[in-house]
Amino acid sequence: MRYSQSLIPTLKETPAEAEVVSHRLLLRGGYIRKLTAGIYSYLPLGLAAIRKVEQIVREEMNRAGAQELLMPMVQPADLWRETGRYEKYGPELLRFHDRHDRESCLGPTHEEVITDLARREIRSYRDMGKNLYQIQTKFRDEIRPRFGLMRGREFIMKDAYSFDVDDAQSEKCYQKMFEAYTRIFKRCGLDFRPVEADSGTIGGSFSHEFMVLADTGEDTLAICSSCDYAANMEKAAVKLPVADDSALLDLEKVETPGKRKVAAVCEFMDIVPRELVKTLVFLADGQAVAVLVRGDREVEEVKLKNHLGVVEVEMADDKQVYDATGVPTGYLGPVGITVKLVVDQEVAAMKNFTVGANEKNYHMKNVNIGRDFEAVSVADLRQITKDDPCPQCGEPLILREGIEVGHIFKLGTGYSKAMKAFYQDSDGQEKPMVMGCYGIGVSRIVAAAIEQNHDENGMIFPMPLAPVQVILLNLGIKDEQITKMADSLYEELMARGVEVLLDDRDERPGFKFKDADLLGIPLRVTVGKRFSKDGIIELRTRRDGAIEELQPEALAARIVALIDAEITAAQ
Ligand code: ATP
Ligand code: MG
Repeated sequence: MRYSQSLIPTLKETPAEAEVVSHRLLLRGGYIRKLTAGIYSYLPLGLAAIRKVEQIVREEMNRAGAQELLMPMVQPADLWRETGRYEKYGPELLRFHDRHDRESCLGPTHEEVITDLARREIRSYRDMGKNLYQIQTKFRDEIRPRFGLMRGREFIMKDAYSFDVDDAQSEKCYQKMFEAYTRIFKRCGLDFRPVEADSGTIGGSFSHEFMVLADTGEDTLAICSSCDYAANMEKAAVKLPVADDSALLDLEKVETPGKRKVAAVCEFMDIVPRELVKTLVFLADGQAVAVLVRGDREVEEVKLKNHLGVVEVEMADDKQVYDATGVPTGYLGPVGITVKLVVDQEVAAMKNFTVGANEKNYHMKNVNIGRDFEAVSVADLRQITKDDPCPQCGEPLILREGIEVGHIFKLGTGYSKAMKAFYQDSDGQEKPMVMGCYGIGVSRIVAAAIEQNHDENGMIFPMPLAPVQVILLNLGIKDEQITKMADSLYEELMARGVEVLLDDRDERPGFKFKDADLLGIPLRVTVGKRFSKDGIIELRTRRDGAIEELQPEALAARIVALIDAEITAAQ
């Protein structure tokens, strides 16, 4: 590829809208351009990096016995109605009508389409044991598209779906995908962790997310400092606390004028937040539910959602709280509350705590479950913290941020039963297919790789994902000898199968060096004054800045060796 013929529109200035480093650098490096919110064009270098990810994903999926196909992006609403998701999926599903007024949607995922295909094409147990995947553009009308390729509305995903005869076979496939994913992310050169993820209604340990560790990650992971436990915070189980066996004290109502926040109430009453219990109101599929957690804790909405068996929970605002309970926020409590009440297990182990009195400007002291109100529903509902012990071994936990790049999930028979995807077993019985689904954020991986690999001068691509492996700088465009050498090295490297970008622009050396660093291409070759003077070619590694001086004859072999070493190291 010759720079002069390519579209690589690098920018000097940092675009104001970019909040994270990968977004900034992808824009500055001319890898992507925004069309509209959450929707980007992949320019040649951006696309080349994406193709690298796709290639690794394809090779490993094929190696694991999966088969590639390609399904439509436009999907009929009726298919989605069969699983109830046309209504349930929410506003991320872009719905529209075609010219015949048929309702359709843009595929955010393909469970319905693939299950429809399976129920039509697979009849016998002999044809089961299939894992089908595609690499395709998805559309999700994300509420907050941001961070460039990290959370787009249109993005590229690899999605795979498996169909097996029973749980045991399906779990084998799950395990295979776990191993394939581990190989994929390793081959991409990423620092990642598989973590236990929320598996919604399926339960068990059959949902794992693959997380790239990076401070800009939107997920928080609880990782044990000692054993192999690692889980998404949404899922990480808090250990059951030891019950307080203090004697019950007399209930007291205390006037707390204007004290609504935990800190203010505590200061006023001379207690600490762990002696207070917050009553928080959520809307669970639109219904108000009150949740009790200790004053210094946060409710984990995913745990709450699963406990209540609803699709969506969101925190109620002040007006919604007042409409549901008749009490202004800040003074809410469990004694005499009129909405459904659920209690975090930690609160269920407490005695003599302080709560709101369900009356403006009043709180209650020495409140106790059983005596003052009933805890009908108790569960682990709070977020784990770094001070909690590991749920598996009890040793300290570390909390880290992560970017979800992959997700594997045992689906069971939910979709197949809803859509009547049955097969005939060897005993002649009709049985629902047991399914699994396995996603990888192909375009997100490129962003995640940059979050992990960059410096103040630009991106530093891991060799396996680099759009090209070498940038070759001709620093004497008008010098015949230099240009001849640069062109011949360009040809020689390409003949050896090396991917090269030849910077043949008529620009100053400093300008070319800056762009080369920004683009993050792993190896840089310079043909310039040193060549004219001493016949020396300079080879520089982007990651550590190490420079080797080589004779032109030795260059290609050295480059091939470096590339091979880096690619093998990642395998
Ligand atoms: P998230 O929690 O980040 O929204 P998700 O749980 O909705 O992800 P899945 O439905 O499991 O994601 O999709 C499979 C993969 O697709 C994810 O692991 C992620 O890497 C990628 N992905 C999901 N949403 C986006 C998006 N808006 N932009 C880019 N990649 C995405
Ligand atoms: Mg999502």
